[in-house]
Amino acid sequence: MYTRYKVIYYCDFCHKYRLSKRAMQIHESHCTLNPSRICRMWGCVDGSCPICLFSKARLSGKMPEGDLQAEIKKWYQVKEIEGQVNESSRISDTLSK
Ligand SMILES: [Zn+2]
Ligand SMILES: [Zn+2]
Repeated sequence: MYTRYKVIYYCDFCHKYRLSKRAMQIHESHCTLNPSRICRMWGCVDGSCPICLFSKARLSGKMPEGDLQAEIKKWYQVKEIEGQVNESSRISDTLSK
């Protein structure tokens, strides 16, 4: 029998955890409860993307209305029409963190 101790890294903002420091650093920089988060939504330039709006709503203390996933899909559809995105696989990439 052997025992292992693991360091668990918790997000300062939403208290999610990861077992890897690097993964948590990445999460924290994009966490929607981080007031100075860096948005990594494709095509987001001025804080107008669904995730930025979601983040702002959360930070102001109210849960945002509507379906975030649907809003994100819509955002990508518009961007695809504008020719800014050619791979919709980015949707799952954005949501997984
Ligand atoms: Zn977090
Ligand atoms: Zn954004």
